[in-house]
Amino acid sequence: MKELYTRIQKKLYYITLLIIIILMCLSLFVVHDRYEGFELGYLVHLLLVILFATCLIIYPKYEIQAIRIAIITIGSIYFYVLFYLYPETSSTFIFLCFIPAISILFFDPRIFYFSLLLNGIFITLTFSYIMVFDEANLYPHIKNDLIGNSINFIASQVILYFLFYLSYVRVKRQQLYFEQVQQTERIRATGQVAAAVAHEIRNPLTVVKGFLQFYEQSMPDKDKKKKHFALMISELNTAEQVISQYLSISKPSQEKRLETLNVKETLKSVTDLLKSYGLLYDNEINLYVEDQCYIRGNGIELKQVLINIIKNAIEASKKGDTVQVRAKKRKEFIEIEVVDRGCGMTDTEIHALGTPFYSLKSKGTGLGLMICYNIVEKFNGTLQFSSSKDEGTTVTLTFPVIKNS
Ligand code: ADP
Ligand code: MG
Repeated sequence: MKELYTRIQKKLYYITLLIIIILMCLSLFVVHDRYEGFELGYLVHLLLVILFATCLIIYPKYEIQAIRIAIITIGSIYFYVLFYLYPETSSTFIFLCFIPAISILFFDPRIFYFSLLLNGIFITLTFSYIMVFDEANLYPHIKNDLIGNSINFIASQVILYFLFYLSYVRVKRQQLYFEQVQQTERIRATGQVAAAVAHEIRNPLTVVKGFLQFYEQSMPDKDKKKKHFALMISELNTAEQVISQYLSISKPSQEKRLETLNVKETLKSVTDLLKSYGLLYDNEINLYVEDQCYIRGNGIELKQVLINIIKNAIEASKKGDTVQVRAKKRKEFIEIEVVDRGCGMTDTEIHALGTPFYSLKSKGTGLGLMICYNIVEKFNGTLQFSSSKDEGTTVTLTFPVIKNS
């Protein structure tokens, strides 16, 4: 599973991209002989190759709508320009039919319909041009059977539409399933923490209750009263804080908005919440975070990752051990380390991490790390384990740094 979300997709993308770029360069090389030097047609061809390749190369870095639209538009123009520049290569018509296939990769209906529309407009203009202006008869294969070619073109667009529709429905369903699993796992993890949280809240409540009972029976003097009220308010504040930290992770969140996250604040609230969980097993959490660590992500999802990893560290630790949580700012990224001196893992066990339902615990689901890998990948980060059996484990998370104040 972890490979699915981290390595393969990007590797596959870049390998395919490399092949496409090689083919485009090859076509530039092959057609070069047809020109005398750098004529306008050749320069346009060259420019489009550069633009198209650049958009495809930068796309994984900035997965934004503007670049997707640019890829579709420049890609369409590129193939139509090839069609006009090299009429003798009649097979280019096949590419024109399949241009919207590029947009299937983005799984965005708006981009796909935009591509279909653009292709419809371009082909109408092209067929009209051929019928009216193609006196030199450069496109006989189209001109001689315009109706047949039009039907074929429409049929290809319908096939692409079905392909898009079927794969889109499938991906949507998978996404929904994954979100449900993620939600369930979060509820489970927070359910386990709940016992410790309840314990934490009971202490301040006992203090406040004790004072109130005391007042019920005898009224102390003014100064003492003031001190007691201050203590009651501070205890209730603690309880309130614990409840809100708990709610901030257990509540369902449909919103997956990316925002600027202060790593120090997030780690502090997660470790505060898990402190009581650690105390159940006599484990302490030691936190050291550098200032000014900001990353881009979704707050609830980042907390979900940290809770699972720190919870795993506590669960792996022996009674009385300390779990270290550190966050440092490197040049290009923020590094978060969770170190335990617990049971550790063998290489085979490390390799299995992230596989759905892989768990060595009697009450584990083995979904926590699968979800962590997915979230970390979404934030363009990495998640690595280094561990030796019976010695302990270090989990290292990295996220691209963003400058903020
Ligand atoms: P769960 O916690 O429900 O078992 P996870 O996906 O969070 O599921 O973890 C999967 C397995 O990875 C755990 O059952 C445990 O065997 C192993 N593991 C994770 N973190 C550690 C750690 N810090 N030390 C030792 N083993 C770990
Ligand atoms: Mg876990």
